[in-house]
Amino acid sequence: MKKKLDAELLSHVLQKISVPTFVIDRDHTIIHWNKALENLTGYQSEEMLGTSDHWKAFYPLQKPLLADLVVDTVREHAIAGYYQGKYRKSSVSEGAYEVEDFFPGLGDAGRWLFFTATPIPDAEGLMLGAVQTLQDITERKVVEDELRESEKRYRDLSITDSLTKLYNSRHFFRQLRQEIERARRYEEHLSLILLDIDNFKGYNDTYGHLEGDRVLAVLAEVIRENLRSADSAYRYGGEEFTVILPETEGENALLVAERLRKGFEDTVLSPLPRSEVHMTVSVGVTQYIPGEDDSVLIKRADSAMYTAKTSGKNRVCQIR
Ligand code: GH3
Ligand code: MG
Ligand code: MG
Repeated sequence: MKKKLDAELLSHVLQKISVPTFVIDRDHTIIHWNKALENLTGYQSEEMLGTSDHWKAFYPLQKPLLADLVVDTVREHAIAGYYQGKYRKSSVSEGAYEVEDFFPGLGDAGRWLFFTATPIPDAEGLMLGAVQTLQDITERKVVEDELRESEKRYRDLSITDSLTKLYNSRHFFRQLRQEIERARRYEEHLSLILLDIDNFKGYNDTYGHLEGDRVLAVLAEVIRENLRSADSAYRYGGEEFTVILPETEGENALLVAERLRKGFEDTVLSPLPRSEVHMTVSVGVTQYIPGEDDSVLIKRADSAMYTAKTSGKNRVCQIR
């Protein structure tokens, strides 16, 4: 009599618990499906009890739930097979697991659930069944995602130039030192290109600063379009740009530089309606010499650029 009362009380407790919960026996038959789980899934206990249809509340196709896996005492690699990178052993109970996963079919736009399945053995260790609780953690996930997103935005902002969307000079110095270190360690080539717009002051004076800004954005686009994925481009100063070319010999950097020069020269600018203006750049190219530091490398690229200026502009000069 007492036992029956206990069982009834327990069943009521489970029913009233605010955490969505179900229990299966060792044959995978549902013996409890509480109110909170009805609210979460839309599946009522009357239709679930006595069946093994619990998967239907979560997946479009039949697939074992975590409770099914723990009731079968499958090995950990089987759990990993279903929940790669999303599960961990629960510290609460022997043989129990916890998972965080997204369920696209739940609610309007899917829900994130944190769920725990715990095996229920009897005193002799014979498996009686398993209990699974499921918590809706969608709100928390959304906040986490937003935080991650805003951190990323902040990180991007701090290394990006807002006008050209290229990296800024601070990032340039950091990256160049890193690439020099890599070139040194792996004995690889490394080249540097420096570009400066020709007679840019005149353009600003004639068409205004805003039109000048537009030219900077256009040049940035030309650079972006002409680089390989390993190369990176930076707005070094007002109208000066740099490109770091890892694993690249000076001769190949020269080809890239010439492509950039030509690409910009060929671009039609239209600072006034129906106007067609072409601007040019002077470009310095140089290759990293093992052992030197970043300032020496930059100075040589700058000298090469200066030589391009003094020998007539709109050209590429290389210092070996
Ligand atoms: P050179 O061919 O010798 O390079 O002549 P230059 O006129 O391009 O060079 P100079 O160094 O005399 O002047 C660079 C000009 O670039 C000065 C400034 O008006 C312009 N400039 C620098 N930063 C910006 C910017 O962010 N926006 C605009 N619109 N102009 C800029
Ligand atoms: Mg300049
Ligand atoms: Mg200039």
